[in-house]
Amino acid sequence: MSQEGAKIKYITPAVAKEKEYDPFIEATLQFERAASFLDLDPWIYQRLKYPEKELTVHLAITLDNGRAESFTGFRVQHSTVRGPAKGGIRYSPNASLSECKALAAWMTWKCAVLDLPFGGGKGAIICDALNMSENELRKLTKEYTLAIRDIIGPYKDIPAPDMFTNAQTMAWIADAYSQSVGYLEPAVVTGKPLHLWGSQGRAMATGYGLFFVLEEACRYLQMEMQGKKAAILGFGNVGSSIAKLIYKAGCQIIAVTDIFGGVANLHGLDPFELEKYVRRTGSVVGFPETEPIDNETLISLPCDFLIPAACEGQINRDNASKVQAKIVLEGANGPTTLEADEILKEKGVLVVPDILANAGGVTVSYLEWVQDLQRYFFSEEEILAKTEKKMKKAFADVAEVAEKNKVTFREAAYILAVGRVADSLAALGRAA
Ligand code: NAD
Repeated sequence: MSQEGAKIKYITPAVAKEKEYDPFIEATLQFERAASFLDLDPWIYQRLKYPEKELTVHLAITLDNGRAESFTGFRVQHSTVRGPAKGGIRYSPNASLSECKALAAWMTWKCAVLDLPFGGGKGAIICDALNMSENELRKLTKEYTLAIRDIIGPYKDIPAPDMFTNAQTMAWIADAYSQSVGYLEPAVVTGKPLHLWGSQGRAMATGYGLFFVLEEACRYLQMEMQGKKAAILGFGNVGSSIAKLIYKAGCQIIAVTDIFGGVANLHGLDPFELEKYVRRTGSVVGFPETEPIDNETLISLPCDFLIPAACEGQINRDNASKVQAKIVLEGANGPTTLEADEILKEKGVLVVPDILANAGGVTVSYLEWVQDLQRYFFSEEEILAKTEKKMKKAFADVAEVAEKNKVTFREAAYILAVGRVADSLAALGRAA
């Protein structure tokens, strides 16, 4: 959002190539595989296949140039069976209802893998956030919050940041919601600034979560993390956090891309310097002592860890066979298509699926929500220790299901998650 004046082309290459790619169809097929493995009761199957609620809102604001403009936004609640819906809000010209439905479903399964007392939700506004002023984004965010306020709340649905939204966006949502209920209610969103009762550790939470499961994945494959090479697709909150953590652990970051292009140095680049450079210029492009690289080349580089940390569908049927990494660590949601997943399975690549790998963010969001409800706050050390414990337990649970049933980590994570939600639903005795 701070990348002022930058010119962008919002084309997700994988989506452009796989014209039929529909994130909600992908999410549904993943659910169906687990449902058939678990032999779900038909009523539970039908109940969990579709979102509980889909809200589309049309918003109007006056832009800085005096012109009135309208925008479309969404909030989808896939499930509130195990607790309030939980999930981010994305600002993107590519946002769609189908994408929100998929992301909301993935949040349900992610919260279940981590055994957090939440269901899944997701929201978006179709807008070109990088080319909007702070004033325009503030007005748009407040309008959006008022439009969805009836379905959000600390015990109903708790938004968080996602692509092209941040702590400031959450502060605006907290304000619009609080003004409408008449008192400050910080627990309505997570990922807030610290001085508005955000949590210690939230900014790097997804990165830490990825790091903890990567440690476990390395242990699982009996390999050392130190000295390994990593390629990272996307250098926003998630990509930059994991880059810094594995760099500190002795890995080499050999390539990074963002929406504008990419940079590679096969001898390794410094993500701390790269982050400073991105803050100054708005992109990784042109970082000194690197060669330009695109997403497709990055995906096929000889490396140990491939970390997709941008958007959906980047690893697809056209490039999966070229992956040389031993571990694909899914920082993004839905970065690997189902067809690509099959190819990676045959190649013996360990894919640590999004609903496990990137759950550090929602885990710290859960801790932020708990702190806000109690008005009692933990130190960063306490947050990191609790997150590490949760992530490592979830990794062990998934690994156990994978080994017991001879399935991939993704299949195991879905079996675990869908099974937990189905058990909760059955126990509620709501069958019609
Ligand atoms: P962000 O907006 O901070 O960063 C996104 C990055 O991806 C930017 O560097 C952007 O330039 C890049 N990007 C976008 N489209 C691209 C493309 N086509 N090719 C290459 N790079 C591209 O977003 P984020 O919060 O880091 O989220 C990234 C992904 O991680 C999303 O899928 C999001 O849903 C997921 N995720 C985020 C969190 C979180 O806590 N932020 C938690 C779990 C999952």
